[in-house]
Amino acid sequence: MNLTEKTETLDLFPNTKDLSDENLVLLKKPANPDPVAETKWNECLIVIKDNTSEQAYNTWFKPVQAIRYQDNLLTVQVPSHFFSEWIDAHYSDLVKSTLKRVFGEVVRLQYEVVVDSTLEIEETKATMKIPAFKFQNQAHQTNKQVENADFNTGLNPKYNLENFVVGDSNQLANSAAMAVAKNPGGTNFNPLFVFANSGLGKTHLIQAIGNYIHQEKPRTKVFYTNAELFTSDYVTSVQHNKTSEFIKFFREIDVLIIDDIQFLASREKTQDHFFHIFNDLHQKNKQIVIASDKSPKELMSIDERLISRFQWGLNVDIQKPDLETKMAILMKKAANEGLELPLDVAEYIASNVSSSIRELEGALIKLVAIHTLQNRNIDITLAKDAVALVSRQEPKQLTIDDIKLTVSEYLKIPIDQMESQSRKHEIALSRQMSMYLAKQLTQLSLKSIGAAFSGRDHSTVLHSCTTIENYLVTDKKVKASYEYLLKTLKGNN
Ligand code: ADP
Ligand code: MG
Repeated sequence: MNLTEKTETLDLFPNTKDLSDENLVLLKKPANPDPVAETKWNECLIVIKDNTSEQAYNTWFKPVQAIRYQDNLLTVQVPSHFFSEWIDAHYSDLVKSTLKRVFGEVVRLQYEVVVDSTLEIEETKATMKIPAFKFQNQAHQTNKQVENADFNTGLNPKYNLENFVVGDSNQLANSAAMAVAKNPGGTNFNPLFVFANSGLGKTHLIQAIGNYIHQEKPRTKVFYTNAELFTSDYVTSVQHNKTSEFIKFFREIDVLIIDDIQFLASREKTQDHFFHIFNDLHQKNKQIVIASDKSPKELMSIDERLISRFQWGLNVDIQKPDLETKMAILMKKAANEGLELPLDVAEYIASNVSSSIRELEGALIKLVAIHTLQNRNIDITLAKDAVALVSRQEPKQLTIDDIKLTVSEYLKIPIDQMESQSRKHEIALSRQMSMYLAKQLTQLSLKSIGAAFSGRDHSTVLHSCTTIENYLVTDKKVKASYEYLLKTLKGNN
């Protein structure tokens, strides 16, 4: 958990001089590479190579060098912080499991970005913190640490309000975030509940609130976590008979920021504890900020008591960004890397990459990688190559039609019957199953899913999902079908 406290040297923009297309010259050889770290990392690379495409391996892993291994912490050197972000975003599971396999125990990874900076922009050399994977396990954070100024907020300092680009799509969410950041617990926006599809800036915005408060009021205990970690910490606390400490920890927080709340679904015990923590903090006028991929009403398998509390404050969504906002985001991100993005290049990327800002960033990362590694000019041709790489790499988004087709073939129910009003058991089951899978495998709202089944409404979809969830517990046959369908659909993906 102390990972986020590690500071790393970061060159804001990697040297572009003297680059052969193999980028390794870019890196200063670590002064004294630790032989254990090197050997083990090389073993990891073999496993990783086996599990990624050659191109991905060459681009993202080959340049990574191990420097140290100490106390279950492996420090590796990467050419720029784009690398660490890219690896974190796309390969964190692979890397984590590889480390575990090679080292035989849980090993944390830390990035160090050191670039040979003979470039004239020496003054842009800056130091900033880059957390590697967040192995944040707050249950282990003792109360003593809570009183300590070094209280681990769980926040990533890279997300702030200044670098959050505001456009029509996120203006309301941004204003609410600013109001809360300036006056935590003192507005009606408690809780502030931000919801949006994936990749549209929820995590960025809610962490920015936390970072702002942490900076302006260092004594305020700000704590960021997500529902998944919250759950696993809760479970750990139960296993170690430390539930009361777990609860105490949360009750002493001034600003609780909890991400991806949808992951509390079906975890009743955890929800129960969260409910009490929520009430306690809310009563004391402590600020609560929540992010979710669905609006409170659309959240599934979450206790009504909690849903109603989520609606107490302000619910605000973030929409897909328009072209101008996408361009502004690209240019700002590039500028942060000391890079000027020509307008036409920004426009090309913005119009050719889907609306998720995460994917937009992915394209920019590719662009910078090719620019840096192959020493090519940033122009439309390069932008085309970068976009092509990203779209090839992005898994195909499943559509509701893919799902209907697969379910129809497997359960042998024609699609038109699935969409019909028939209540016959097998037909209803195929319909409910399709809806449930669509809910899980697509970004569609319950409303859109319902619309794809002859205009059913969102509560029908919700009901279907609950029905299937019940079957999964009580009916082995349905469970087996579901597992088969899930595997097939994901495999096609
Ligand atoms: P979500 O949590 O909604 O899935 P994130 O907050 O992780 O999305 O955003 C994905 C990426 O896009 C992050 O790197 C984030 O910094 C960036 N991003 C999203 N919205 C904006 C914005 N308005 N301005 C700048 N960067 C943004
Ligand atoms: Mg997020």
